[in-house]
Amino acid sequence: MSTHANAACEESEPAFLGCVEQFFDKAAAVSGVKSETLAAIKRVDAVLSVTFPIELENGKTEIVRGYRAQHSHHRLPVKGGIRYADEVDMQEVEALASLMTYKCAVVDVPFGGAKGGVAINPKKYSTRELERITRRFALELCQKNFIGPGIDVPAPDVGTGGREMSWIMDTYRQFNPTDINSAGCITGKPVNQGGVRGRTEATGLGVYYGVREFLKYDEVQKQTGLTGDIEGKRVVIQGFGNVGYWAAKFFEANGAKIVGVADQDCGIYNEQGINIDELQEYKSAKGVLGGYSSGTIVPESIKLIEAECDVLIPAALERQIGLKNVNRIKAKVIGEGANGPITPAAHDILVKNGRVVVPDLLLNAGGVCVSYFEWLKNISHIRFGRMNKKWDEQGKAQLLSLVEENAGRKLTVTERQQVIHGAEEHELVYSGLEDTMIKACEETRVTANEFGNIDYRTAAIANAIRKIAAVSEGSGSLFTNRG
Ligand code: NAD
Repeated sequence: MSTHANAACEESEPAFLGCVEQFFDKAAAVSGVKSETLAAIKRVDAVLSVTFPIELENGKTEIVRGYRAQHSHHRLPVKGGIRYADEVDMQEVEALASLMTYKCAVVDVPFGGAKGGVAINPKKYSTRELERITRRFALELCQKNFIGPGIDVPAPDVGTGGREMSWIMDTYRQFNPTDINSAGCITGKPVNQGGVRGRTEATGLGVYYGVREFLKYDEVQKQTGLTGDIEGKRVVIQGFGNVGYWAAKFFEANGAKIVGVADQDCGIYNEQGINIDELQEYKSAKGVLGGYSSGTIVPESIKLIEAECDVLIPAALERQIGLKNVNRIKAKVIGEGANGPITPAAHDILVKNGRVVVPDLLLNAGGVCVSYFEWLKNISHIRFGRMNKKWDEQGKAQLLSLVEENAGRKLTVTERQQVIHGAEEHELVYSGLEDTMIKACEETRVTANEFGNIDYRTAAIANAIRKIAAVSEGSGSLFTNRG
Protein backbone atom coordinates (compact mmCIF):
# COMPACT_ATOMS: atom_id res chain seq x y z
CA MET A 1 0.00 0.00 0.00
CA SER A 2 1.21 3.50 -0.80
CA THR A 3 2.53 5.63 2.03
CA HIS A 4 2.88 8.79 0.05
CA ALA A 5 0.07 10.85 1.56
CA ASN A 6 0.81 14.37 2.78
CA ALA A 7 -1.21 17.53 3.41
CA ALA A 8 -1.95 17.81 -0.32
CA CYS A 9 -1.93 14.23 -1.63
CA GLU A 10 -4.07 11.15 -1.10
CA GLU A 11 -2.41 7.81 -0.44
CA SER A 12 -3.50 6.67 -3.88
CA GLU A 13 -1.34 9.30 -5.56
CA PRO A 14 2.12 8.24 -6.70
CA ALA A 15 5.42 9.27 -5.15
CA PHE A 16 7.45 11.80 -7.10
CA LEU A 17 9.14 9.27 -9.43
CA GLY A 18 5.73 7.83 -10.27
CA CYS A 19 4.44 11.34 -11.03
CA VAL A 20 7.30 12.02 -13.45
CA GLU A 21 6.76 8.63 -15.14
CA GLN A 22 3.03 9.25 -15.56
CA PHE A 23 3.65 12.64 -17.12
CA PHE A 24 6.27 11.06 -19.41
CA ASP A 25 3.93 8.24 -20.51
CA LYS A 26 1.17 10.67 -21.40
CA ALA A 27 3.53 12.77 -23.55
CA ALA A 28 5.21 9.68 -25.02
CA ALA A 29 1.85 8.50 -26.35
CA VAL A 30 1.44 11.64 -28.49
CA SER A 31 5.12 12.16 -29.39
CA GLY A 32 5.16 9.91 -32.44
CA VAL A 33 8.45 8.36 -31.24
CA LYS A 34 8.71 4.58 -31.53
CA SER A 35 8.30 2.44 -28.44
CA GLU A 36 11.88 1.00 -28.32
CA THR A 37 13.30 4.53 -28.31
CA LEU A 38 10.80 5.65 -25.67
CA ALA A 39 11.80 2.75 -23.41
CA ALA A 40 15.47 3.69 -23.80
CA ILE A 41 14.80 7.34 -23.02
CA LYS A 42 12.73 6.59 -19.92
CA ARG A 43 15.24 4.43 -18.05
CA VAL A 44 17.96 5.87 -15.81
CA ASP A 45 21.46 5.24 -17.20
CA ALA A 46 23.54 5.10 -14.00
CA VAL A 47 23.08 5.51 -10.25
CA LEU A 48 25.41 5.88 -7.29
CA SER A 49 24.41 5.27 -3.69
CA VAL A 50 27.05 5.78 -0.99
CA THR A 51 27.32 5.91 2.76
CA PHE A 52 30.19 7.45 4.67
CA PRO A 53 31.01 8.28 8.28
CA ILE A 54 31.34 11.86 9.48
CA GLU A 55 32.88 12.99 12.71
CA LEU A 56 30.70 15.58 14.44
CA GLU A 57 32.08 18.43 16.52
CA ASN A 58 30.99 16.66 19.72
CA GLY A 59 33.32 13.78 18.81
CA LYS A 60 30.50 11.39 17.84
CA THR A 61 30.34 9.72 14.44
CA GLU A 62 27.34 9.71 12.14
CA ILE A 63 26.71 7.68 8.99
CA VAL A 64 25.51 9.85 6.10
CA ARG A 65 23.86 8.63 2.89
CA GLY A 66 24.30 10.29 -0.51
CA TYR A 67 23.00 9.65 -4.03
CA ARG A 68 23.65 10.62 -7.63
CA ALA A 69 21.59 9.54 -10.63
CA GLN A 70 22.65 10.14 -14.23
CA HIS A 71 19.48 9.77 -16.20
CA SER A 72 20.69 10.16 -19.77
CA HIS A 73 24.09 10.00 -21.43
CA HIS A 74 22.71 10.86 -24.87
CA ARG A 75 24.60 14.12 -24.39
CA LEU A 76 27.56 14.72 -22.11
CA PRO A 77 28.19 16.07 -19.58
CA VAL A 78 25.08 15.30 -17.57
CA LYS A 79 23.92 18.09 -15.31
CA GLY A 80 21.77 18.58 -12.24
CA GLY A 81 21.63 19.92 -8.70
CA ILE A 82 22.67 18.45 -5.38
CA ARG A 83 19.98 18.65 -2.73
CA TYR A 84 20.39 18.45 1.06
CA ALA A 85 17.15 17.31 2.72
CA ASP A 86 16.08 14.59 5.16
CA GLU A 87 13.64 13.06 2.67
CA VAL A 88 16.19 12.59 -0.16
CA ASP A 89 16.23 9.02 -1.48
CA MET A 90 17.17 7.23 -4.67
CA GLN A 91 13.63 7.42 -6.09
CA GLU A 92 13.48 11.17 -5.66
CA VAL A 93 16.94 11.64 -7.16
CA GLU A 94 16.05 9.44 -10.18
CA ALA A 95 12.83 11.40 -10.71
CA LEU A 96 14.65 14.72 -10.57
CA ALA A 97 17.40 13.41 -12.89
CA SER A 98 14.80 12.38 -15.50
CA LEU A 99 13.15 15.76 -15.27
CA MET A 100 16.56 17.39 -15.83
CA THR A 101 17.04 15.51 -19.11
CA TYR A 102 13.67 16.71 -20.39
CA LYS A 103 14.34 20.22 -19.07
CA CYS A 104 17.70 20.51 -20.89
CA ALA A 105 16.05 19.36 -24.12
CA VAL A 106 13.19 21.85 -23.77
CA VAL A 107 15.58 24.82 -23.55
CA ASP A 108 18.18 23.38 -25.97
CA VAL A 109 20.93 22.99 -23.39
CA PRO A 110 23.19 20.25 -24.83
CA PHE A 111 23.44 18.17 -21.64
CA GLY A 112 21.92 14.98 -20.29
CA GLY A 113 20.09 15.10 -16.96
CA ALA A 114 21.40 14.15 -13.51
CA LYS A 115 20.58 14.84 -9.88
CA GLY A 116 22.15 14.20 -6.52
CA GLY A 117 21.27 14.45 -2.91
CA VAL A 118 22.49 13.91 0.62
CA ALA A 119 19.89 12.77 3.15
CA ILE A 120 20.54 15.36 5.85
CA ASN A 121 18.77 18.37 7.30
CA PRO A 122 21.52 20.99 6.78
CA LYS A 123 20.08 23.15 9.58
CA LYS A 124 21.18 20.52 12.11
CA TYR A 125 24.90 20.88 11.37
CA SER A 126 27.59 23.49 12.00
CA THR A 127 29.43 25.03 9.04
CA ARG A 128 32.45 22.87 9.76
CA GLU A 129 30.32 19.70 9.83
CA LEU A 130 28.59 20.67 6.59
CA GLU A 131 31.97 21.24 4.97
CA ARG A 132 33.10 17.76 6.06
CA ILE A 133 29.91 16.17 4.71
CA THR A 134 30.16 18.06 1.42
CA ARG A 135 33.84 17.31 0.88
CA ARG A 136 33.35 13.65 1.74
CA PHE A 137 30.42 13.34 -0.67
CA ALA A 138 32.49 15.11 -3.36
CA LEU A 139 35.32 12.65 -2.73
CA GLU A 140 32.90 9.75 -3.36
CA LEU A 141 31.78 11.43 -6.61
CA CYS A 142 35.43 11.85 -7.68
CA GLN A 143 36.40 8.28 -6.86
CA LYS A 144 33.45 6.84 -8.76
CA ASN A 145 33.89 9.15 -11.77
CA PHE A 146 30.55 10.85 -11.09
CA ILE A 147 31.91 14.39 -11.46
CA GLY A 148 34.01 16.20 -14.06
CA PRO A 149 33.58 18.98 -16.64
CA GLY A 150 33.00 16.47 -19.44
CA ILE A 151 31.17 13.83 -17.42
CA ASP A 152 28.82 15.14 -14.76
CA VAL A 153 28.40 18.72 -13.59
CA PRO A 154 26.42 19.27 -10.35
CA ALA A 155 24.78 22.57 -9.32
CA PRO A 156 22.92 23.92 -6.26
CA ASP A 157 19.43 22.79 -5.30
CA VAL A 158 17.33 22.82 -2.12
CA GLY A 159 19.59 23.28 0.91
CA THR A 160 22.81 23.95 -1.03
CA GLY A 161 24.33 27.07 -2.60
CA GLY A 162 27.54 28.69 -3.78
CA ARG A 163 29.42 27.76 -0.62
CA GLU A 164 28.84 24.01 -1.07
CA MET A 165 29.69 24.28 -4.79
CA SER A 166 33.06 25.90 -3.89
CA TRP A 167 33.88 23.06 -1.46
CA ILE A 168 33.00 20.46 -4.11
CA MET A 169 35.15 22.20 -6.74
CA ASP A 170 38.06 22.44 -4.33
CA THR A 171 37.82 18.71 -3.58
CA TYR A 172 37.65 17.89 -7.29
CA ARG A 173 40.78 19.98 -7.86
CA GLN A 174 42.72 18.08 -5.22
CA PHE A 175 41.96 14.88 -7.13
CA ASN A 176 42.56 16.38 -10.58
CA PRO A 177 45.31 18.98 -10.14
CA THR A 178 46.20 19.09 -13.84
CA ASP A 179 42.66 19.50 -15.18
CA ILE A 180 42.67 23.04 -16.61
CA ASN A 181 38.89 22.87 -17.00
CA SER A 182 38.31 21.99 -13.36
CA ALA A 183 36.16 25.11 -12.74
CA GLY A 184 33.65 23.56 -15.16
CA CYS A 185 33.19 20.50 -12.90
CA ILE A 186 30.41 22.34 -11.06
CA THR A 187 28.16 25.38 -11.56
CA GLY A 188 26.40 27.82 -9.26
CA LYS A 189 29.77 28.91 -7.88
CA PRO A 190 30.27 32.38 -6.42
CA VAL A 191 31.60 34.80 -9.06
CA ASN A 192 35.00 34.99 -7.35
CA GLN A 193 35.30 31.19 -7.70
CA GLY A 194 34.60 31.20 -11.44
CA GLY A 195 30.82 31.59 -11.33
CA VAL A 196 28.90 33.64 -13.84
CA ARG A 197 27.07 36.87 -13.00
CA GLY A 198 23.32 36.27 -13.04
CA ARG A 199 23.36 32.58 -11.99
CA THR A 200 22.00 33.22 -8.48
CA GLU A 201 18.81 34.85 -9.71
CA ALA A 202 18.55 32.85 -12.97
CA THR A 203 15.79 30.40 -12.02
CA GLY A 204 13.55 33.08 -10.48
CA LEU A 205 14.17 35.38 -13.44
CA GLY A 206 13.31 32.55 -15.85
CA VAL A 207 10.08 31.93 -13.91
CA TYR A 208 9.17 35.59 -14.37
CA TYR A 209 10.03 35.59 -18.10
CA GLY A 210 8.02 32.39 -18.65
CA VAL A 211 4.84 33.60 -16.93
CA ARG A 212 5.17 36.96 -18.70
CA GLU A 213 5.29 35.14 -22.07
CA PHE A 214 2.29 32.91 -21.36
CA LEU A 215 0.19 35.89 -20.28
CA LYS A 216 0.82 37.44 -23.71
CA TYR A 217 -0.80 34.52 -25.54
CA ASP A 218 -4.38 35.16 -26.76
CA GLU A 219 -5.51 31.65 -25.85
CA VAL A 220 -4.22 32.07 -22.27
CA GLN A 221 -6.00 35.41 -21.90
CA LYS A 222 -9.20 33.89 -23.29
CA GLN A 223 -8.99 30.87 -20.99
CA THR A 224 -8.17 32.79 -17.80
CA GLY A 225 -9.85 36.15 -18.39
CA LEU A 226 -6.56 37.83 -17.45
CA THR A 227 -5.01 40.71 -19.36
CA GLY A 228 -1.67 40.17 -21.06
CA ASP A 229 0.61 42.19 -18.81
CA ILE A 230 2.29 41.63 -15.46
CA GLU A 231 1.31 45.07 -14.11
CA GLY A 232 -1.24 44.75 -11.31
CA LYS A 233 -1.35 40.93 -11.25
CA ARG A 234 -1.84 39.44 -7.76
CA VAL A 235 0.80 36.80 -7.13
CA VAL A 236 1.23 34.19 -4.37
CA ILE A 237 4.63 32.53 -3.91
CA GLN A 238 5.22 29.28 -1.98
CA GLY A 239 8.84 28.85 -0.83
CA PHE A 240 10.90 31.92 0.01
CA GLY A 241 14.30 30.51 -0.90
CA ASN A 242 16.43 31.06 -3.97
CA VAL A 243 13.73 30.48 -6.60
CA GLY A 244 10.81 31.99 -4.67
CA TYR A 245 12.63 35.11 -3.53
CA TRP A 246 14.03 36.00 -6.96
CA ALA A 247 10.78 35.23 -8.76
CA ALA A 248 8.92 37.46 -6.27
CA LYS A 249 11.46 40.21 -6.74
CA PHE A 250 11.18 40.23 -10.56
CA PHE A 251 7.35 40.10 -10.46
CA GLU A 252 7.35 42.99 -7.98
CA ALA A 253 9.88 45.02 -9.99
CA ASN A 254 7.65 44.67 -13.06
CA GLY A 255 4.49 45.93 -11.38
CA ALA A 256 2.87 42.80 -9.93
CA LYS A 257 1.57 42.76 -6.36
CA ILE A 258 2.92 39.92 -4.21
CA VAL A 259 -0.12 39.32 -1.99
CA GLY A 260 1.14 36.12 -0.34
CA VAL A 261 4.42 34.45 0.56
CA ALA A 262 4.43 30.99 2.18
CA ASP A 263 7.57 29.52 3.71
CA GLN A 264 8.28 26.46 5.83
CA ASP A 265 7.10 27.90 9.16
CA CYS A 266 4.07 29.94 8.05
CA GLY A 267 2.66 32.24 5.38
CA ILE A 268 2.18 36.02 5.13
CA TYR A 269 -0.84 37.52 3.36
CA ASN A 270 -1.27 41.18 2.51
CA GLU A 271 -3.87 42.33 -0.05
CA GLN A 272 -1.93 45.62 -0.44
CA GLY A 273 1.22 43.79 -1.50
CA ILE A 274 4.25 42.57 0.45
CA ASN A 275 7.54 44.45 0.23
CA ILE A 276 9.83 41.62 -0.89
CA ASP A 277 13.19 43.06 0.14
CA GLU A 278 11.83 44.01 3.56
CA LEU A 279 10.50 40.47 4.03
CA GLN A 280 13.82 39.01 2.90
CA GLU A 281 15.71 41.18 5.41
CA TYR A 282 13.33 39.99 8.11
CA LYS A 283 13.86 36.32 7.17
CA SER A 284 17.64 36.77 7.04
CA ALA A 285 17.61 38.22 10.54
CA LYS A 286 15.10 35.82 12.16
CA GLY A 287 15.43 32.69 10.03
CA VAL A 288 11.62 32.45 9.71
CA LEU A 289 8.68 34.54 8.45
CA GLY A 290 6.76 34.16 11.73
CA GLY A 291 6.40 37.48 13.56
CA TYR A 292 6.56 39.63 10.42
CA SER A 293 4.10 42.41 11.12
CA SER A 294 3.17 43.91 7.70
CA GLY A 295 0.51 41.34 6.85
CA THR A 296 -1.67 38.57 8.23
CA ILE A 297 0.09 35.43 9.42
CA VAL A 298 -1.27 32.17 7.97
CA PRO A 299 -0.09 29.57 10.52
CA GLU A 300 -0.70 26.53 8.28
CA SER A 301 1.63 27.53 5.45
CA ILE A 302 0.16 25.27 2.77
CA LYS A 303 -3.24 26.98 3.11
CA LEU A 304 -1.81 30.11 1.53
CA ILE A 305 -1.60 28.47 -1.89
CA GLU A 306 -5.41 28.38 -1.82
CA ALA A 307 -5.63 32.19 -1.55
CA GLU A 308 -7.45 34.30 -4.12
CA CYS A 309 -4.85 35.43 -6.72
CA ASP A 310 -4.10 35.59 -10.44
CA VAL A 311 -0.76 33.76 -10.46
CA LEU A 312 0.46 31.09 -8.05
CA ILE A 313 4.14 30.15 -8.02
CA PRO A 314 4.84 26.98 -6.01
CA ALA A 315 8.63 27.26 -5.50
CA ALA A 316 9.32 25.01 -2.53
CA LEU A 317 8.87 21.26 -2.87
CA GLU A 318 7.26 18.52 -4.94
CA ARG A 319 3.65 17.29 -4.41
CA GLN A 320 2.17 20.46 -2.92
CA ILE A 321 -1.02 20.37 -5.01
CA GLY A 322 -2.76 17.00 -4.98
CA LEU A 323 -6.25 15.55 -4.79
CA LYS A 324 -6.77 16.85 -1.24
CA ASN A 325 -6.41 20.55 -2.07
CA VAL A 326 -6.66 20.92 -5.86
CA ASN A 327 -10.30 21.97 -5.85
CA ARG A 328 -9.54 24.83 -3.49
CA ILE A 329 -6.82 26.36 -5.71
CA LYS A 330 -8.13 29.69 -7.04
CA ALA A 331 -5.16 30.93 -9.07
CA LYS A 332 -5.82 31.19 -12.80
CA VAL A 333 -2.20 30.62 -13.80
CA ILE A 334 0.02 28.23 -11.87
CA GLY A 335 3.72 28.56 -12.71
CA GLU A 336 5.81 25.68 -11.41
CA GLY A 337 8.96 27.22 -9.91
CA ALA A 338 9.62 24.02 -7.95
CA ASN A 339 10.12 20.62 -9.52
CA GLY A 340 7.00 18.47 -9.46
CA PRO A 341 4.72 20.56 -7.22
CA ILE A 342 1.53 19.18 -8.83
CA THR A 343 0.54 15.50 -9.01
CA PRO A 344 -0.79 14.05 -12.31
CA ALA A 345 -4.36 13.70 -11.00
CA ALA A 346 -4.39 17.26 -9.65
CA HIS A 347 -2.86 18.53 -12.89
CA ASP A 348 -5.69 17.01 -14.93
CA ILE A 349 -8.29 18.61 -12.69
CA LEU A 350 -6.64 22.03 -12.94
CA VAL A 351 -6.48 21.80 -16.73
CA LYS A 352 -10.10 20.60 -16.92
CA ASN A 353 -11.12 23.59 -14.79
CA GLY A 354 -9.51 25.98 -17.26
CA ARG A 355 -6.40 26.81 -15.26
CA VAL A 356 -3.15 27.36 -17.13
CA VAL A 357 -0.28 25.31 -15.73
CA VAL A 358 3.16 26.40 -16.92
CA PRO A 359 5.21 23.25 -16.26
CA ASP A 360 8.42 22.91 -14.26
CA LEU A 361 10.59 21.51 -17.03
CA LEU A 362 9.96 24.69 -19.00
CA LEU A 363 9.42 27.36 -16.36
CA ASN A 364 12.27 26.64 -13.95
CA ALA A 365 14.84 25.86 -16.67
CA GLY A 366 16.52 29.26 -16.16
CA GLY A 367 18.88 27.71 -13.61
CA VAL A 368 20.25 25.03 -15.92
CA CYS A 369 20.31 27.45 -18.83
CA VAL A 370 22.59 29.87 -16.97
CA SER A 371 24.58 26.95 -15.52
CA TYR A 372 25.29 26.09 -19.15
CA PHE A 373 26.51 29.67 -19.70
CA GLU A 374 28.72 29.32 -16.61
CA TRP A 375 30.17 26.04 -17.90
CA LEU A 376 30.86 27.69 -21.28
CA LYS A 377 32.64 30.55 -19.48
CA ASN A 378 34.71 28.05 -17.47
CA ILE A 379 35.85 25.93 -20.38
CA SER A 380 36.59 29.01 -22.52
CA HIS A 381 38.43 30.64 -19.59
CA ILE A 382 37.13 34.13 -20.27
CA ARG A 383 34.42 36.43 -18.93
CA PHE A 384 31.57 37.08 -21.38
CA GLY A 385 31.98 40.46 -23.08
CA ARG A 386 35.67 40.86 -22.31
CA MET A 387 36.88 40.68 -25.91
CA ASN A 388 34.15 42.69 -27.64
CA LYS A 389 32.68 45.24 -25.20
CA LYS A 390 35.03 48.11 -26.08
CA TRP A 391 35.04 47.24 -29.77
CA ASP A 392 31.22 47.34 -29.89
CA GLU A 393 31.21 50.69 -28.05
CA GLN A 394 33.72 52.22 -30.44
CA GLY A 395 31.76 51.06 -33.51
CA LYS A 396 28.51 52.48 -32.12
CA ALA A 397 30.23 55.78 -31.18
CA GLN A 398 31.49 56.21 -34.76
CA LEU A 399 28.03 55.48 -36.13
CA LEU A 400 26.49 58.00 -33.72
CA SER A 401 28.93 60.71 -34.81
CA LEU A 402 27.82 60.23 -38.41
CA VAL A 403 24.13 60.35 -37.39
CA GLU A 404 24.76 63.53 -35.34
CA GLU A 405 26.53 65.17 -38.28
CA ASN A 406 23.64 64.43 -40.62
CA ALA A 407 20.94 65.33 -38.12
CA GLY A 408 22.69 68.55 -37.14
CA ARG A 409 22.14 67.87 -33.43
CA LYS A 410 24.45 66.53 -30.73
CA LEU A 411 23.06 63.92 -28.30
CA THR A 412 23.28 64.61 -24.57
CA VAL A 413 25.94 62.67 -22.64
CA THR A 414 23.21 60.41 -21.15
CA GLU A 415 21.57 59.72 -24.53
CA ARG A 416 24.98 58.97 -26.02
CA GLN A 417 25.88 56.63 -23.17
CA GLN A 418 22.57 54.75 -23.49
CA VAL A 419 23.22 54.03 -27.15
CA ILE A 420 26.90 53.14 -27.12
CA HIS A 421 26.95 51.16 -23.85
CA GLY A 422 28.55 47.74 -24.50
CA ALA A 423 27.06 44.75 -22.68
CA GLU A 424 28.42 43.62 -19.30
CA GLU A 425 28.50 39.92 -18.43
CA HIS A 426 25.23 39.93 -16.45
CA GLU A 427 23.43 41.77 -19.27
CA LEU A 428 24.53 39.12 -21.77
CA VAL A 429 23.41 36.38 -19.38
CA TYR A 430 20.00 38.02 -18.88
CA SER A 431 19.61 38.49 -22.60
CA GLY A 432 20.59 34.88 -23.38
CA LEU A 433 18.17 33.62 -20.74
CA GLU A 434 15.30 35.81 -21.93
CA ASP A 435 15.78 34.70 -25.52
CA THR A 436 15.91 31.05 -24.44
CA MET A 437 12.72 31.32 -22.38
CA ILE A 438 10.80 33.16 -25.12
CA LYS A 439 11.76 30.49 -27.66
CA ALA A 440 11.02 27.53 -25.38
CA CYS A 441 7.61 28.96 -24.35
CA GLU A 442 6.68 29.58 -27.97
CA GLU A 443 7.76 26.06 -29.01
CA THR A 444 5.62 24.60 -26.23
CA ARG A 445 2.63 26.70 -27.23
CA VAL A 446 2.97 25.74 -30.90
CA THR A 447 3.09 22.02 -30.04
CA ALA A 448 0.07 22.33 -27.72
CA ASN A 449 -1.92 23.98 -30.51
CA GLU A 450 -0.61 21.55 -33.14
CA PHE A 451 -1.95 18.58 -31.18
CA GLY A 452 -5.35 20.25 -30.80
CA ASN A 453 -4.93 21.94 -27.44
CA ILE A 454 -3.15 19.40 -25.28
CA ASP A 455 -1.90 20.82 -21.99
CA TYR A 456 1.42 22.66 -21.89
CA ARG A 457 3.18 20.02 -19.77
CA THR A 458 2.39 17.24 -22.24
CA ALA A 459 3.49 19.52 -25.09
CA ALA A 460 6.80 20.41 -23.42
CA ILE A 461 7.64 16.78 -22.59
CA ALA A 462 6.64 15.63 -26.09
CA ASN A 463 9.00 18.24 -27.56
CA ALA A 464 11.78 17.05 -25.25
CA ILE A 465 11.19 13.39 -26.18
CA ARG A 466 11.38 14.17 -29.89
CA LYS A 467 14.65 16.08 -29.49
CA ILE A 468 16.25 13.35 -27.33
CA ALA A 469 15.02 10.64 -29.72
CA ALA A 470 16.60 12.45 -32.68
CA VAL A 471 19.99 12.54 -30.92
CA SER A 472 19.82 8.96 -29.60
CA GLU A 473 18.58 7.36 -32.82
CA GLY A 474 21.10 9.30 -34.90
CA SER A 475 24.02 8.30 -32.69
CA GLY A 476 23.71 4.57 -33.26
CA SER A 477 23.49 3.91 -29.54
CA LEU A 478 20.00 2.47 -30.05
CA PHE A 479 21.13 0.24 -32.95
CA THR A 480 18.44 1.79 -35.11
CA ASN A 481 20.60 3.06 -37.97
CA ARG A 482 22.38 -0.16 -38.86
CA GLY A 483 19.91 -1.15 -41.59
P1 NAD B 1 15.91 26.74 -1.32
O1 NAD B 1 16.40 25.76 -0.34
O2 NAD B 1 16.73 27.95 -1.60
O3 NAD B 1 14.45 27.27 -0.92
C1 NAD B 1 13.38 26.44 -0.59
C2 NAD B 1 12.45 27.26 0.27
O4 NAD B 1 11.26 26.53 0.52
C3 NAD B 1 13.06 27.61 1.64
O5 NAD B 1 12.85 28.98 1.90
C4 NAD B 1 12.26 26.74 2.62
O6 NAD B 1 12.10 27.34 3.88
C5 NAD B 1 10.93 26.64 1.90
N1 NAD B 1 10.14 25.48 2.30
C6 NAD B 1 10.56 24.25 2.67
N2 NAD B 1 9.51 23.48 2.98
C7 NAD B 1 8.41 24.24 2.77
C8 NAD B 1 7.02 24.00 2.91
N3 NAD B 1 6.55 22.81 3.32
N4 NAD B 1 6.17 25.00 2.59
C9 NAD B 1 6.63 26.20 2.18
N5 NAD B 1 7.93 26.49 2.04
C10 NAD B 1 8.80 25.51 2.33
O7 NAD B 1 15.63 25.92 -2.66
P2 NAD B 1 15.45 26.48 -4.12
O8 NAD B 1 16.74 26.38 -4.82
O9 NAD B 1 14.72 27.77 -4.09
O10 NAD B 1 14.53 25.35 -4.77
C11 NAD B 1 13.12 25.34 -4.63
C12 NAD B 1 12.52 24.41 -5.67
O11 NAD B 1 12.91 24.85 -6.98
C13 NAD B 1 12.96 22.95 -5.58
O12 NAD B 1 11.90 22.14 -6.06
C14 NAD B 1 14.11 22.89 -6.58
O13 NAD B 1 14.34 21.57 -7.07
C15 NAD B 1 13.56 23.79 -7.66
N6 NAD B 1 14.57 24.34 -8.56
C16 NAD B 1 15.63 25.06 -8.08
C17 NAD B 1 16.54 25.60 -8.98
C18 NAD B 1 17.69 26.47 -8.54
O14 NAD B 1 18.42 26.98 -9.40
N7 NAD B 1 17.88 26.72 -7.26
C19 NAD B 1 16.40 25.34 -10.35
C20 NAD B 1 15.31 24.62 -10.80
C21 NAD B 1 14.40 24.11 -9.89
